[in-house]
Amino acid sequence: MNDNETLALMEHYSMRHYPLYPMVITHGKGVYVWDDHGNAYMDAAAGYSSVNFGHNHPRILKLNRRLNCLDRKGRGPANVVPNVFSNPELARFLARICTMLGYDKGGVTNGGVEANEAAIKLMRKWGYTKKKNRIPIGRAEIVACEGNFHGRTTTVVGLSSDPAHNVYFGPYSGTIVIPYNDPAALEDVLATNRNIAGFIVEAIQGERGVRIPECGYLKACQEICRRHDVALCVDEIQTGLGRAGNLLASWDDAVRPDIVTLGKSLGAGDRPVAAVLAKEEFAVFEPGEHGSTYGGNIRSMAIANEALSIIEDEKLCDRSLELGTFLLFDLKRRLSAEKFAPLVKEVRGRGLMIGIELKEKVVAKDILSALLAHGVLTKDAHGVIRITPPLVITEKECIELASRIEQTFIDLTA
Ligand code: PLP
Repeated sequence: MNDNETLALMEHYSMRHYPLYPMVITHGKGVYVWDDHGNAYMDAAAGYSSVNFGHNHPRILKLNRRLNCLDRKGRGPANVVPNVFSNPELARFLARICTMLGYDKGGVTNGGVEANEAAIKLMRKWGYTKKKNRIPIGRAEIVACEGNFHGRTTTVVGLSSDPAHNVYFGPYSGTIVIPYNDPAALEDVLATNRNIAGFIVEAIQGERGVRIPECGYLKACQEICRRHDVALCVDEIQTGLGRAGNLLASWDDAVRPDIVTLGKSLGAGDRPVAAVLAKEEFAVFEPGEHGSTYGGNIRSMAIANEALSIIEDEKLCDRSLELGTFLLFDLKRRLSAEKFAPLVKEVRGRGLMIGIELKEKVVAKDILSALLAHGVLTKDAHGVIRITPPLVITEKECIELASRIEQTFIDLTA
């Protein structure tokens, strides 16, 4: 099928819940993807941070080949089986991820938002059954932050402050939104409302434009939540597993959340895998209270185990921190030129999670198109060009990326 045919079918049949860009991407290798005409682009979106090991990482390819092999009896790894039966890959994964990140219990889901849904259920049930002042059944409330992005399901969009995400999908109840990066706002709401079960927050707000809170913000939130006996869940679906330079970005603030959610990188850009991890006290599900048909199946878990090995073996957290700092300062240096002042407001980031904030009047869509024309695929996050290349990017590729971005801005200002 050529790209015109592909786009025509998309135009006709897709529900159009994503704006359709007239480009068809067909191939990928490492930090590059190719369109249908053979043009190469540096992938600085990395599948919204899920392709952290680059496209077609050799170890993921090799594992997939192994997973597709049959033994001498003609049997391959079982497909989905009822989750009451265990499988070794799932057992290994749960043990590894809990040990790596210091949690007691874990559950596997398919997408990030499902992990957040599970976390919300855990916090509510904990509020009804474990919190010192038990919340009357049906009254538990969850606090989230303005500018958050925790996914797209109905409970989760009820936490959103973005009308585009939730105006038409309510009603919502039991959610309170407070300003981000503002511990006093959290203190105020927890001090005046005894029905709050949990607080969910991102370590860095990625979708809102790489908003990095003050150092010590999460620590203050942890202290406030503990004092008011409220569960703290940090959504590390994007920031975790190396993207922001550490296994958990919460650790940079010396915080161990009661519950943490992960996704993206866990599936190596190959399978949907996400997880919710909890300290013993907050792991309150009883059999039958939660589940997922595909969650934890052998093949996905084999990929997730390999993903954890790649993160460790390739030292991707150190790499993200080191190369992210390098790329950040290179971009800052290049984009600080006087002639770019009408376009660029700020360049900021942590690890390989970098944002180029545009001046208010600049149309982000135009910048994205110009970047594409210079062979850089990226994403607009509320007027901030988000640069999140695969964590396996090399120093040379960082320089190439920075130079393509600079050249785009040079051409835009010429
Ligand atoms: N939480 C955060 C911080 C995210 O960035 C995302 C996705 O971008 C999600 C949750 C939702 O994950 P998924 O799209 O896998 O449901």
